[in-house]
Amino acid sequence: MSNPKPIERRGLLLVVSSPSGAGKTTLSKRLLGSDPNITLSVSATTRPMRPGEIDGKDYHFLSVEEFRRREQEGQFLESAEVFGNFYGTPKEHVFNMLEEGTDILFDIDWQGKQQLDERAGGDVVSVFILPPSRAALEERLRKRAQDSDEVVAQRMAMADSEISHYAEYDYVIVNDDIDKADTQLRAILMAERLKRRRQTGLRAFVDHVIKPHD
Ligand code: 5GP
Repeated sequence: MSNPKPIERRGLLLVVSSPSGAGKTTLSKRLLGSDPNITLSVSATTRPMRPGEIDGKDYHFLSVEEFRRREQEGQFLESAEVFGNFYGTPKEHVFNMLEEGTDILFDIDWQGKQQLDERAGGDVVSVFILPPSRAALEERLRKRAQDSDEVVAQRMAMADSEISHYAEYDYVIVNDDIDKADTQLRAILMAERLKRRRQTGLRAFVDHVIKPHD
């Protein structure tokens, strides 16, 4: 008897949200670097490029007019205004990847997560990353940008608003140790991939395995 075909699986949408300063970018980079079966959804944004960012890799940087045009054409799977700038997830890349069975990581806020839930329902897995304490978050924000007290206070207020949505997520990780948080995020992804309902070819596989030999 030949070996059964490998089990097929539809890709899943892994949404990771957090306030800035909670370590989400580091965790996302680690996950993408260690797992070849997940790819990043590169968002479009109207916010100015920051030093070190690359157009097309970190974001697709667009003018407000171009963003609006693409939005009106229905090119985004979800879009939202976040702290005065527009952000959107291009549809095409997501659909292509999911069809191939590749999982997709979304670094988007709670508004985008809600829209994905409405549009992709059962394929969305959402994770919220929390900082270990308010003091730790403030320290990370200060260190990162060397900003004035006023800017740090503004960012803390933004963090409060983002964190207030933590209960809408499937999983919550407290990032008090980056290695631990990384392991936890990978464990979530692994378990979600193994969910029976995601393994679309399971029936054929099991039939092959249990079929009595003639
Ligand atoms: P930043 O400008 O610091 O890169 O991102 C600001 C916020 O916008 C972050 O919370 C990030 O997760 C969110 N964001 C980035 N891309 C998207 C997107 O395509 N859609 C939505 N809804 N939020 C996004």
